[in-house]
Amino acid sequence: MIYKNKILIDPLYWQYLYVPWPTYLDLNACSYECAYCWANLDGRRLELDLQAVQKQIRNLGGINEIGEGIAAHFLESGYPVSLSPTSDPFAPSNEQAFVFLRELFKEAEIPLVLETRGGRLAGAAIETMAPTHLSIPLTTDRAEIKNRFEPGSPGLEERLELAVAAKAKGHVVEIGLNPLVPAWWNDLPGLLARLRKLGFNRLLIQELNLSLRQRQWVKVADEEFLQYAMMSEKPDWRKIWQIRQQAEAMGFMLDPFYGSAYLGHGQPYFGEYFALGGKWFPTVQEFFWRLGQEAQHLGKPMVYSVDDFSHWAGLDLDFESPSFGNYLSGWNREFRRSGKGPTAYSFREVHAHLFDIFDARTPFWADETSIVTEQGVPVLDEEGSLLLAFDPFTLRKDKTELKEAARTRLGQPKAPAGRGVLG
Ligand code: SF4
Repeated sequence: MIYKNKILIDPLYWQYLYVPWPTYLDLNACSYECAYCWANLDGRRLELDLQAVQKQIRNLGGINEIGEGIAAHFLESGYPVSLSPTSDPFAPSNEQAFVFLRELFKEAEIPLVLETRGGRLAGAAIETMAPTHLSIPLTTDRAEIKNRFEPGSPGLEERLELAVAAKAKGHVVEIGLNPLVPAWWNDLPGLLARLRKLGFNRLLIQELNLSLRQRQWVKVADEEFLQYAMMSEKPDWRKIWQIRQQAEAMGFMLDPFYGSAYLGHGQPYFGEYFALGGKWFPTVQEFFWRLGQEAQHLGKPMVYSVDDFSHWAGLDLDFESPSFGNYLSGWNREFRRSGKGPTAYSFREVHAHLFDIFDARTPFWADETSIVTEQGVPVLDEEGSLLLAFDPFTLRKDKTELKEAARTRLGQPKAPAGRGVLG
């Protein structure tokens, strides 16, 4: 059933610290109808109420703001909004909404970032939009696979054309192999070589995964596909691993990619996007990349506190809301297993929980991170939170002795135009 829902611009809780935009807008249900689409399978049959979004934006800064303070804060601060991780902005079901929203956001000077498989309006839109970040997933070079699993969406060549045109126009383009199913490709090495030749250097690689709940809503009757999607360990993991290795050897930066894996590159994964200027949101990739640079310079592991991180990230905000707890929802199960049921009323509290890297594999967990100790005893800050260390020299250790490490300088106030300057 389609029903009207007051969808509003919301914090992107589940991608917090992974992508440099803090909010997103759910659009209409996506008519591209990919068989594996989480958003569609999770039963969202929503119709975007454009007037409600318009009201949300027009009321920013006033006393009658709609929605929670966190999204309003980000919108007022000029951070970008993602259109959209849950529905393609250029799918026919969203064309009208996209035209309206584009004008609305332009008028309000709120930047947009896009995730798209392309569509009728995509070419003209990227021609006229100010340079931004576009993520374009490529999923198969086999027409029968596209028609079966992504029936409504543009094919490979159309997506590649869009990616090339967007790059030529100054947009920063990430190519997605998401989902990556090796059997869906005739010539994946050929595609990688072609992408490098065209000047693309960043790949988002994600496996195909569906939950039991999502599986029941899949429309395509294909037992092999369903079984594959349900496996947590893919039977073709070697092929996936080889593709990653091959892509890395060809000079691609890969995402997800953690810790010192980034250090071999001259910039963090979103570096080109940051170079466009404007405001961006912190990512752990960027944080670890900068810590790694510092550590290599000093020849020591770097120590950082919750406040160092919050300050560097520009997230030492003075407002509180129970909604901050949503930033922890991705790790709730792991935290509960450790006997904790975390709540958070501020970013500081969110970060303090996420620093508990032995209770949950939070974004702060990496092969290079460990807790800081003094004679084997954890060192705590004034609020009782753990101090962490980033050590690109010794991987997978539990503890770093304080006297062996140096305090990071990243906690210094950020530069006015972003966080691009080290102390
Ligand atoms: S294009 Fe994206 S949002 Fe649309 S159905 Fe496919 S996966 Fe879902």
